[in-house]
Amino acid sequence: MIGHYPYRAPYGYVNIRDENKKPTLKIDPDKEPIVKFIFDNFLHGMPIKEVGKAARKMGFNKSGNSAIRRILTCPAYAGLVKVQPYKGKKERLVEAVHPAIIPSYLYYEAQKRLKDNGPRTVLTKEMPLRGLLRCECGKPFSGGKSKGRNQYYWYYRCVGHEGHNYSAIKIHKKFDLLLQEMSLSDKRLNYIRESFEKKFEKRMEEKQSNLIRIKKQLSRVEKKMESLEEKFITNQITERVYKRWNSKLEPEQLTHLQQLSKWSESDQEYYNRFQSQLPRLGDIRHIYHAASLTEKRELVKLWFKQTLTWVGSYFETIYIMPVFTVNVMKLKGKDILNINNNMQYIQKSDVSTAYGSRTRPSSVKGRCLKPIDQRGRFV
Ligand SMILES: [Zn+2]
Repeated sequence: MIGHYPYRAPYGYVNIRDENKKPTLKIDPDKEPIVKFIFDNFLHGMPIKEVGKAARKMGFNKSGNSAIRRILTCPAYAGLVKVQPYKGKKERLVEAVHPAIIPSYLYYEAQKRLKDNGPRTVLTKEMPLRGLLRCECGKPFSGGKSKGRNQYYWYYRCVGHEGHNYSAIKIHKKFDLLLQEMSLSDKRLNYIRESFEKKFEKRMEEKQSNLIRIKKQLSRVEKKMESLEEKFITNQITERVYKRWNSKLEPEQLTHLQQLSKWSESDQEYYNRFQSQLPRLGDIRHIYHAASLTEKRELVKLWFKQTLTWVGSYFETIYIMPVFTVNVMKLKGKDILNINNNMQYIQKSDVSTAYGSRTRPSSVKGRCLKPIDQRGRFV
């Protein structure tokens, strides 16, 4: 079946059977120019909304901005077909039997653009973890509110999961508890401060001895240069000899001067920053609550690198900032946070690129692939 198309034909194609009675697609010549127009204009920078308006004037009969997105994300137009995940193999695209409407590089370019211009996560102070916290399926939570008797109730929601709605109050409460547990004890803060000071002291000693050594070397070279100059002025050596020696001594002098400036840089600022930041780790819950919405999100990214996941009643994460590791180890089995290095649904590429606050238009992904039965009806 590889390369065949057992789904409903996307806009611009018609379902047919090939000579072996296998399902495939035929281009619909009336609609083909519209598909080309949509890709072409989107890739030339026209906003999706405008693309939609213009395409509709040409006869494109599907409404809504997501209709255009569905065209742009459908691999069939590039002559490709999705192969569903099978026996541990990931979902992938293979060359289809049917003819392409656009070259595949344009399809891939469009995916890249869509990812870059994806809808910004709407930020509200009621939902600081929206787009950051993940559902157990790996998708970042979206969210919303529903009207109760007297007020709105906020909830986190998975776009790919019917019924995966979680009360924001419940999640935030657990998150508070987590931050409280992550916060470093006075004992640990003291330990970190002491080892920092030891290291810092050692570095200062090293610095001192380096400075003494470099200054000595520098003064030796400079003495040589002086005496060389004197000899030249008093005609004891020729200009040629002077120049030859000077060209050896000058680079040496420069090297020492560079090292001197490097080792003379003050570490005071570094020291002060450490001393002022360290106590903050003693109450990160307070820090988090005192922060602005954007700062909150930056903190969460810093602490968990967007791998924090809600699994119904507690959190799971792949990454935790190393300074908290000791505390988090103690949370094992406590129904608060579980470190799980095996969360395969979070792809490495997601972890490394998911620093922005943008989310993918995942809700429309693959919607053009509706299975159909032998007679072309929807399953
Ligand atoms: Zn989900």
